[in-house]
Amino acid sequence: MKGTVFDIQRFSIHDGPGIRTTVFLKGCPLNCLWCHNPESKSKVQQLSFTPARCIGCRACLKACKFGGHKADDQGTHIIDRKACMLCGECVKTCYAEALEMIGKTMSVDEVITEVMKDKPFYETSGGGMTISGGEPLFQPDFSLALLKAAKEKGLDTAIETSGFGKPEILKKFIPLVDHFMYDIKETDDSRHRRLTGVPLEPIVSNLKMLNDLGVAVLVRFPLVPGVNAIPEHFEGIGKLAAQLDHAKGFEIMPFHRLGEGKLDRLGMGSSPIHAEAPENAEFNGWIDALAAQGVKVINERKK
Ligand code: SF4
Ligand code: SF4
Repeated sequence: MKGTVFDIQRFSIHDGPGIRTTVFLKGCPLNCLWCHNPESKSKVQQLSFTPARCIGCRACLKACKFGGHKADDQGTHIIDRKACMLCGECVKTCYAEALEMIGKTMSVDEVITEVMKDKPFYETSGGGMTISGGEPLFQPDFSLALLKAAKEKGLDTAIETSGFGKPEILKKFIPLVDHFMYDIKETDDSRHRRLTGVPLEPIVSNLKMLNDLGVAVLVRFPLVPGVNAIPEHFEGIGKLAAQLDHAKGFEIMPFHRLGEGKLDRLGMGSSPIHAEAPENAEFNGWIDALAAQGVKVINERKK
């Protein structure tokens, strides 16, 4: 069993309880306008180029047989992504590490071997393995095989999901996952479609299914100033939360701008939104706005 992984991050402390290793899978059916992991969207490999690291040695121009690297009349380095066949030869020649291939095909054994390196830390901290993305439900067989292998090694398991998948597939995750972290991006269908590219209904329906089956889900709300941090959404969150009697908790995920540089490095254009991370007062205002709707979030107020 193999899957496409774009990162394995050790010593994660924000992806579930304790110290964890987070396995980031490539491929996501959503297209959130604020995505901070744009390298996860496509399920295929991508070539990343960081101009600030490039020393202008031109080794990549010689290495590429397909014309993927060019220099214009001013000597500016240009990547022709239509010509690129993703062979990875240029990456091998780039000692400055300006070039990087994002995404790797890995077997379950290879991933679990990496994850098991930090087992002592999981045991002392209550941590384990988290599968994130991208979307774990987008590579369901691989995700399920990873979770099964982790459980056989006695590890605590978690997934971070948008919940956009078939309910019969999501049900298969229940016995293998100790912690579900489930993101609700919007609570109005037309806004959800505009901001993520997919309908809201299957996501809410799956969340309610988990709840009705007694699964304690941590429900998370990515909030972006001027985009979805709006009274209508806070009201929608209040109505949704009131229906989730088994939820483990509710958490705000405040926007940050870390994804923007990645878009550029991957040749994916510029961010379609122009938001800033919230100031402390704005963030605390979100906590108050949700509390007014009867939602007690687990976030601490910022000072
Ligand atoms: S090999 Fe790397 S450092 Fe050299 S020109 Fe190409 S991208 Fe720049
Ligand atoms: S990955 Fe291969 S085809 Fe693409 S630019 Fe590099 S050498 Fe050329």
